[in-house]
Amino acid sequence: MTLPSEIAVSTEPTGYIPVVAVVGRPNVGKSTLVNRIIGRRQAVVEDTPGVTRDRVPYDANWSGRQFTVVDTGGWEPDARDRAAAIAAQAESAVATADVVLFVVDATVGATDVDEAAVKMLRRSAKPVLLVANKADNNNIELESATLWSLGLGQPHPVSALHGRGSGDLLDAVLDALPSPPPITEPTERGPRRVALVGRPNVGKSSLLNRLAREERAVVDAVAGTTVDPVDSLVQIGGETWQLVDTAGLRKRVGKASGTEYYASLRTAAAIEAAEVAVVLFDASEPISEQDQRIIGMVVESGRAVVIAFNKWDLVDDDRRYLLSKEVDRELRRIPWALRVNISAQTGRAVDKLAPALRTALDSWETRVPTGQLNQWLTALVQETPHPVRGGRAPRILFATQAGTRPPRFVLFTTAPLDAGYQRFVERKLREEFGFEGSPVEVSVKPRK
Ligand code: GDP
Ligand code: GDP
Repeated sequence: MTLPSEIAVSTEPTGYIPVVAVVGRPNVGKSTLVNRIIGRRQAVVEDTPGVTRDRVPYDANWSGRQFTVVDTGGWEPDARDRAAAIAAQAESAVATADVVLFVVDATVGATDVDEAAVKMLRRSAKPVLLVANKADNNNIELESATLWSLGLGQPHPVSALHGRGSGDLLDAVLDALPSPPPITEPTERGPRRVALVGRPNVGKSSLLNRLAREERAVVDAVAGTTVDPVDSLVQIGGETWQLVDTAGLRKRVGKASGTEYYASLRTAAAIEAAEVAVVLFDASEPISEQDQRIIGMVVESGRAVVIAFNKWDLVDDDRRYLLSKEVDRELRRIPWALRVNISAQTGRAVDKLAPALRTALDSWETRVPTGQLNQWLTALVQETPHPVRGGRAPRILFATQAGTRPPRFVLFTTAPLDAGYQRFVERKLREEFGFEGSPVEVSVKPRK
């Protein structure tokens, strides 16, 4: 029985935050436009010639929709073959983008260099919006209609410097983006939902009984809230938590109720309904296949995890030593899972549960700002580049965090990464940002 790897790896990112690339000749106002879009002034524009700001991603938000805007200003204005340079740059930007903003200087009109870039852009299947920038007044705005000749459809007249037309442009950007993922996060948050899971006899009912002592007071305090009758509201660490699907644990007349098959369906449903799972182990017994299966289910579900070694009152020095060996062996794929050693019977360390649940949920909901993420990644890749294979090494262009609950990251690359290198990046990601108690997903999006 093998556990899923430490980090679930998929090649197709799910519900990722879309990428908008800004391309165009030097000096048409790309940086100014990016600043306008991210609502910051003078943050990006560099007067130093030659400053590489190739593919710098920023977090952006318009009408509540999040996206990443990538400034692609990095080629030398005096490169010898400018047309080729812009074409190559546009090609690369287009490959990683969901929508491309092609910026033209409306006061200059379409140039040969613009036309060379357009050829490249039109070959791509990506949506391209033509931005006629520096349309500071009505006259220039009217003249910008001549840019229809570029064959990219309607020009969007904008003054990135003064803001004129930028709202309309952003509306058009949202229209061109892939449809947003369904909203799964509840807007109004009740008590955090916790599943107590583990094979029979590990002590789930006992723990529930211990926690439920304060339950009556809790139920009174939140009268009027609708809690599924199969759930329990309990106070742990001064906070109210909703233990999901505890009906079966509460009754517990006889233990013969249900086969292992039904028990595992029930466990799966509880995990599904929860945000964080407490996986109980009987610390006095060896970690079994069934224990592993349950923890595997939790990790695969993407929920936050706390492992509780119960019956700690039965653990002596010999057992403690054996258990540490078992943990090293059986749980080595999930070193990030938080662990507490408790006794539901004596109450030992049960108060450690709440802080562990809190930490796991905080990790689960962590969002790393795109700037910070890419600063870290740039340094990492510089220090330890991808190994060269057959004369070439794939490059990571940039990364974004696609979502939370659990944290999901997308690496935009020139080609698929070696599995070993991907794991290295994933491990370093945890070293840098923590994510204690939460699974993390990393996917790679090679440009096509
Ligand atoms: P980039 O090289 O394409 O990133 O261009 P920059 O954003 O650095 O802008 C080049 C120059 O054009 C700067 O001096 C900007 O202030 C100016 N600029 C940018 N947008 C506008 C605009 O909408 N109107 C006017 N008049 N000037 C602009
Ligand atoms: P469940 O099947 O997971 O709900 O487990 P139960 O709560 O029914 O517990 C199974 C058995 O383990 C019962 O006999 C409990 O009294 C015992 N038990 C539960 N927790 C502890 C503990 O912390 N220490 C000891 N020594 N026994 C425990």
